[in-house]
Amino acid sequence: MKIKPKNIYLKLKEIIIKKKLVDLEKSQYWTINELKNFQNERLKKIINYAYKNIKGYRDKFNQVKIKPNDINSSNDLYKIPILTREEIQENPAFINPKLIHTTLYTGGSTGKSLIYYDDQQAGIMRWNCHYRGWKYQGYNVSKKLAVISAAKKISINHKILTLNGQLEDKYLRQNIEAIVKFRPEFLRGYVGSIYILGKYILEKNIKIDFIKAIDPVSENLYEYQKKIMQKAFNAPVFEEYCCNDGGACAWECEKHQGLHWAMERAIIEEKNGEMITTDLWNKAMPFIRYKNGDKVKFLKNKCCCGRTLPLIKVKGRDNDIIIAPKGPIGATFLMYHGIGYGDKNSFRTGIRIVQYVQEKNYQLNVNIVKSANCTQKQIDGFKKAVKTTCHQMKIKFNFIKDIKGTKIGKRQFIINNDHKLLEKWK
Ligand SMILES: [Zn+2]
Repeated sequence: MKIKPKNIYLKLKEIIIKKKLVDLEKSQYWTINELKNFQNERLKKIINYAYKNIKGYRDKFNQVKIKPNDINSSNDLYKIPILTREEIQENPAFINPKLIHTTLYTGGSTGKSLIYYDDQQAGIMRWNCHYRGWKYQGYNVSKKLAVISAAKKISINHKILTLNGQLEDKYLRQNIEAIVKFRPEFLRGYVGSIYILGKYILEKNIKIDFIKAIDPVSENLYEYQKKIMQKAFNAPVFEEYCCNDGGACAWECEKHQGLHWAMERAIIEEKNGEMITTDLWNKAMPFIRYKNGDKVKFLKNKCCCGRTLPLIKVKGRDNDIIIAPKGPIGATFLMYHGIGYGDKNSFRTGIRIVQYVQEKNYQLNVNIVKSANCTQKQIDGFKKAVKTTCHQMKIKFNFIKDIKGTKIGKRQFIINNDHKLLEKWK
């Protein structure tokens, strides 16, 4: 999810006074059968709606000769062909423009951002699920929060301190000074950014003893990163998984036994380890049996916290990191400033695919596939953004026709071939 720290406080205030679609505080304790029945009722509604209103789905159903009444529960989902990201990328056949309430972007790891939409109800569910998940950490809107994501300056808005997402020493120092002064109880942000901030704190022997929970988002979290974060901030890490394109989301509770999957928002299936997700609310751009590229495992144990929402473990795409002389650059930050988000007029629309390859001696090769209507102005804008983000590296831009996928068809967004340097930073 694109994090706009300035808006979080207002958004949260708005959703908690809004009429709730489901009482999520209660539903997390429903029996599994009650949760499944709830899902099946929503599923039938969304299937009927998609068949009637969304051409892309009607075509998919016709292809395999099924009708909405062939799908009565999640057990029938296998009859529907799987949906891929490539199918829905810039494809109006999967959108109902009349219902668009919010435009969203995927970030992180694929080198190409997906633009997608949700309607008002889906947006309310998205925020309500997040808020419930954050409450597991002890958070609520009256608490002070620090966020480190893609901002390029420090600011304070209501109870939220936005830190600078740039990771050079001088910005890290400024961030720490701001944290010490503001004394937030909660810290949220990109995995890579919190990790680097944590390393800096340990190196400089700075004492932080007021944080109650750390919530790293948007990238894979590795054990070595978690250890550093917990040691540096003297607080437990609470894992969060959220894939808003498809609605799959899960949060770790205070017992830390796995992530509680928000069954009220989406159905998650596991097929050969791959996650397949069906959003139960989104009518502006329905996601039905969407393969989002992440891996999921259903855990057998029940959580001792008493919540019935099942536990899962999720692993996103493997990401290498780019390491500049001043330290690593988080994958999400690179995505945000190097390509990724932006409106239709931004330079980013001129780039179809990008790939960063790091070689020895801080050499960074940037492979670019241009869009059909790419302009020189867009290329110049892109180059400038990369040079600023990857400051002090030797950068070479290569314009190529296509970037080959791996054996399983995925393109790697970041490849780091300087293994010695990688080891040093882990
Ligand atoms: Zn629990």
